[in-house]
Amino acid sequence: MQVESATGPIDTANLGFTYMHEHLIAATPGLYTSYPHLWEGDKIEREATERLRRVHAKGVRTIIDMSPADFHRDPLLARRVSAASGVNILETTGAYVHSILYFNTQECDLIADLFVRDIAVGINGTDIKAAVIKGATGPDGVTPTNEKHLRAAARAHRRTGAPISTHTDMRTHRGLDQQRVFREEGVDLGRVVIGHSGDAMDIPYLEQLIENGSYIGLDRFGIDLMLPEEQRIELLVELCRRGFAERMVLSHDASAMVDFVSPAFRAQPNWNWDTLVDRILPEARKRGVTEEHIRLMTVDNPRAIFEAQGPY
Ligand SMILES: [Zn+2]
Repeated sequence: MQVESATGPIDTANLGFTYMHEHLIAATPGLYTSYPHLWEGDKIEREATERLRRVHAKGVRTIIDMSPADFHRDPLLARRVSAASGVNILETTGAYVHSILYFNTQECDLIADLFVRDIAVGINGTDIKAAVIKGATGPDGVTPTNEKHLRAAARAHRRTGAPISTHTDMRTHRGLDQQRVFREEGVDLGRVVIGHSGDAMDIPYLEQLIENGSYIGLDRFGIDLMLPEEQRIELLVELCRRGFAERMVLSHDASAMVDFVSPAFRAQPNWNWDTLVDRILPEARKRGVTEEHIRLMTVDNPRAIFEAQGPY
């Protein structure tokens, strides 16, 4: 089976070890059109390539660049960085919590049309196609605008078959709200990843998300200011012990460039693409996480998510 990447279609068998939620660029849309002197494109490209080369040497083969149009998405940069580093990069459509204002006044189906265009035709006027659809719900919950974004994501998913992957505020259990909206839209929840599900030691909530059929993303390793590394590892180990590895995917939510977090947040020492392979997985192995668990979370589950294809 094939999946679209920044360098063109690739075989799903070649996805390999995959980080399911990262960013090349997580930046303010439009800012760099008005203030181009702020844009350090060459530096971003150089650093992204260097960092991905480094983790490629450690076995990482694919990252999902979870940056839609409202994150200053740059598919041509993704194509160059992918070719230079050897790491596959899959691109994203959909919407973040604070999305582009244009969506506020548009009908749901028109927004879905734009998402479908990214998947079927290409992003930013290129022939690079999105492979995944982002939905995002913050602590304010499913506001009318947010509900429209989620329904647009759901409709684009059903029209194209591209999987949905979400941003949630875990502490307010927003994943359950998202599942409710998706279910109302007829979405098979097994084709959804509820992201940012490793930010609190809340196993009953996570069990509910999994029972409802979705994958969960423990996808912020290195963001120790939200939950310290020790607890993130403890959560990972306990969920594997309970037999949930087949419904989990792993990542850092790290980026080569992010412009909307504080310098202290950005400076977290382990918020990078090395942390899982260098720190987390070796420690998890010591605590009983098996090679089979790791293979499921990093290789088999990502592949299965992108092999569940076809509109319905
Ligand atoms: Zn993210």
